[in-house]
Amino acid sequence: MSRKPRQTTTAGAPVPTNETTLTAGKLGPSLLQDYQLIEKLSHQNRERIPERVVHAKGWGAQGTFTVTHDITKYTCADLFSEVGKKTEVLSRWSTVAGESGAADTERDVRGFSLKFYTAEGNWDMVGNNTPVFFVRDAYKFPDFIRTQKRHPKTNLRSPEAMFDFWAAQPESVHQVTILMSDRGIPTTPMHMNGYGSHTFSMYNKQGERFWVKFHFKTQQGHKHYTNEESEKLIGKTREAYQEALYNAIEEGKYPKWTLYIQVMPETEAGQQDYNPFDVTKVWPHKDYPLIEVGELEMNKNPENYFQMIENAAFSPSNVVPGISFSPDKMLQGRIFAYADAHRYRLGTHYEALPANHPKNAKVNHYHKDGAMRFFTNDFDNRDAYYEPNQYNGPVADESVKEPPLKIDGDADRYNQKTTDADFVQPRALFEMFSDEQKSRLYANYAAAMGPCSDEVKERWYKVLKRVHPDYEAGVRNAVNKLDTDVNTVPITDDTPLED
Ligand code: NDP
Repeated sequence: MSRKPRQTTTAGAPVPTNETTLTAGKLGPSLLQDYQLIEKLSHQNRERIPERVVHAKGWGAQGTFTVTHDITKYTCADLFSEVGKKTEVLSRWSTVAGESGAADTERDVRGFSLKFYTAEGNWDMVGNNTPVFFVRDAYKFPDFIRTQKRHPKTNLRSPEAMFDFWAAQPESVHQVTILMSDRGIPTTPMHMNGYGSHTFSMYNKQGERFWVKFHFKTQQGHKHYTNEESEKLIGKTREAYQEALYNAIEEGKYPKWTLYIQVMPETEAGQQDYNPFDVTKVWPHKDYPLIEVGELEMNKNPENYFQMIENAAFSPSNVVPGISFSPDKMLQGRIFAYADAHRYRLGTHYEALPANHPKNAKVNHYHKDGAMRFFTNDFDNRDAYYEPNQYNGPVADESVKEPPLKIDGDADRYNQKTTDADFVQPRALFEMFSDEQKSRLYANYAAAMGPCSDEVKERWYKVLKRVHPDYEAGVRNAVNKLDTDVNTVPITDDTPLED
């Protein structure tokens, strides 16, 4: 008798074979009653779930966050309650536009998502490797994403669509500048920063609210590929990030980030010459210095990628007492959109999957049946299936109510028009770049904008000119140079091959 465990059906019964179909006679045909064959083929058909509409290609790990500095004067969140406190974390990094088989080292923004399994429930920090975003109103989010995906007729990515859209949203130039700069292609997820990007809020035990920005700064240093390096690498491997991250963790070289926050007292919002809830803006460090909080270390490769990373569902709606939202319109849109994306992609009870289920907090909700209802929440009394009830079912805890959000003004559709303020921060960024960094910025633009129509190019040059005349001139020259460098003679069967 073999010491290997017995293979079974999904219902646990032992199976007699995993090799030979049940047939009528030696020559067949196969019999419908060979249920295990049908079951096996059916499972194969169902091994994929819809990939994420955005951020489809990703890499992840498990790890720990440790508090190193006391920030209890800003927040009563349990995970920050004492120096030395450790919290388990799940991470997922991703590119935005490519499908799940896309090459890892394409020029793109990277997602930077963290799930903190705190004693008060899961806190999701669903950020990017950039401190800002392309648009500041959730109405524009689906259109923006459409420009990053494939054209309906050609089924190809469309630089024309991207720059046409950005030229109509000049505030996007801040994020586009970062995307076209060296930081547009990190060498691995370990060599980039993570930012919450939006403004969030924290509140303390006294009920004082503060506006907050999150910064996870890489301890590995920033490392980037040029377009040429990345193209060469993609020729060799499309999975460079997965390989680098997986191997680093297996070899015990655990990547680390330092968490800092920027803090703005609640009443200071509105006193700046920029809107502090506009996700196309940062808060300058000189006005709101970085305050050190703790260290993130990712130190475990998940045993099963699909179970822990493909099934991971991060949503900015997952906040815990002591951390909350802000009036940022993009954040407000994402609070709905992300959780809804998971309900569609994974199913109604996606939060009960191992990656998403709170590890350190008891889940006591009254949501009931539906797909994936593989948990009981009968609260030791089967009569407590609605609320309020007299059967000791769980009740809400008023003590975790967040302080009221002070609001003034009328409800209206406030159109934040493009103003000179939209170009101040991209200008500061552009002026930080060395001459070499600027040359690469121009060249990266030329590669990205080369295929665009003259109309779209001219509209984008106008945007760049508002940032800095040198920026516009540099990009224009690089694009023109590319146009004259391009070999316009098509290659045919008769073209003599070079030696
Ligand atoms: P600071 O000089 O205090 O900060 C500059 C910041 O720029 C640093 O955080 C640095 O990140 C980051 N940086 C350096 N090179 C790049 C790059 N190629 N792409 C993106 N970021 C880069 O000045 P300010 O706070 O006044 O900001 C000036 C400009 O810097 C802003 O307008 C914005 O464009 C950019 N920036 C600002 C951030 C902020 O939160 N204030 C955050 C990131 C960028 P690091 O320390 O990791 O090298």
